[in-house]
Amino acid sequence: MNIRTKLTVIFFVLVIIVVSVISISIYYFSSQYRAQDFYRRLKNRAINTAKLLTQFEEVNATLLQRMERENPASLPSQYVVIYNNLNEILYSSEKVSAVPVDDILLKRIENENEVYFERDDYAVLGFLFEAKGSRFKIIASAIDINGRDALINLRDILLAIFSISVIIVSILGWVFSGRVLSPILRIVNEVDTITAANLELRLNEGNRRDELSKLAQTFNKMLSRLQRAFFAQKNFIANASHEIKTPITVITGEIEVALLQRRTVDYYINLLKSVLVGVKGMNKLSTQLLLLAQTSSDNPEKQFSAIRIDDILWSVKDELSKAHSEYTVDIEFDMAISDQTLSTIGDAELLKVVILNLMENGCKYSDDNKVSVVLASGKDEITIRFINKGVGIPSNDLDKIFEPFYRGKPSKKVKGFGIGLPLAKRIMELHKGKILVSSGQNDSTTFTMVLPFLDTV
Ligand code: ADP
Repeated sequence: MNIRTKLTVIFFVLVIIVVSVISISIYYFSSQYRAQDFYRRLKNRAINTAKLLTQFEEVNATLLQRMERENPASLPSQYVVIYNNLNEILYSSEKVSAVPVDDILLKRIENENEVYFERDDYAVLGFLFEAKGSRFKIIASAIDINGRDALINLRDILLAIFSISVIIVSILGWVFSGRVLSPILRIVNEVDTITAANLELRLNEGNRRDELSKLAQTFNKMLSRLQRAFFAQKNFIANASHEIKTPITVITGEIEVALLQRRTVDYYINLLKSVLVGVKGMNKLSTQLLLLAQTSSDNPEKQFSAIRIDDILWSVKDELSKAHSEYTVDIEFDMAISDQTLSTIGDAELLKVVILNLMENGCKYSDDNKVSVVLASGKDEITIRFINKGVGIPSNDLDKIFEPFYRGKPSKKVKGFGIGLPLAKRIMELHKGKILVSSGQNDSTTFTMVLPFLDTV
């Protein structure tokens, strides 16, 4: 069942329940009132008859019968019978009683003082009446034709109102639910038109106040996030292809030129050296890209274990010095060394990648190819600062350098791909740590790795 039908049915059921309760109540209270009113009138008529018979000597039964018949206030099919103390009939308005009167009924009147009941169409009232020192039993009956007709009329009116309500409520419910749901349908239709090719489209946010407008706003925010992610992804692929294509084009060109004619051995050696640099660069780029892809998944399959940061620092320093003899790395310990202040939990290979990148950057972007590494401990964490002097990073570049392939303008002449820092940031997030940077243009630059202690992870 769709929501529109559901809303219509709920609306229909609720209104019908309310109309039914109101109609039944009206009918019930009207019939109660009718019965009480008729009982009061019947009793008045019977008392009136009894008074005429007992208080006026000149009124005899025959005269009373005539008076009753002529009296316009007499009730339809009215019948009054009066018994004396010995249960003998003193007066009967008709020859034949419409309601059988037996000893049981007379006994009940004597015991209960007053008896009222309905039999067939008749309302029957029996009660004790005292006059001139004697007790009489009066039994009066009549048919409440007007009341019954009024009730039938009321029932018909209520049934007609009920039937009309069913039709009106069904139509109104359908129209109303359609109107309530139309903004949702509009949103659905608008969303339907949005594809990867037109992610810049946004939904109409309406009055910007009600819930549906909030839904549209939330959806628009999600579209903006998707658009940014989609754009970043597209850019990423374009940049990656460009970075791989450039060295391949250079290598291809160099080999083609070399093959144009026979060359000297030195020429070939230089060519191979140049090709090797290009291939090594591509190898480094593809390794970094692969790592970025692996660490970017929500659940990278990495086995974390307890590791000592100082061990990694020394081994990376050795590695870097072997590859670049011109680089100087100074390592300082700014703390009382203990297992706790040096250990964290993580993946040694991944943390090596971060440290190597920060050490290499420190040397690469400094004026004197030198980086100072300071290992310190905070309350719950290990901090490793990489400080170098050099061109620095302009303040508006500080956020961007963590985006893939972004390279600061002052450092364009230094070789690189712009993958190291985004990869470092992702690896630090995996280790529940962070990476911070502070720098200014032509200033010293400090990158800080923050890692939780082993026992706080
Ligand atoms: P790459 O070094 O290959 O360009 P990174 O992601 O490691 O890529 O760095 C991104 C950018 O951040 C660099 O291009 C450079 O502009 C800037 N940067 C990183 N480290 C430093 C540093 N120590 N000093 C100055 N700029 C830096």
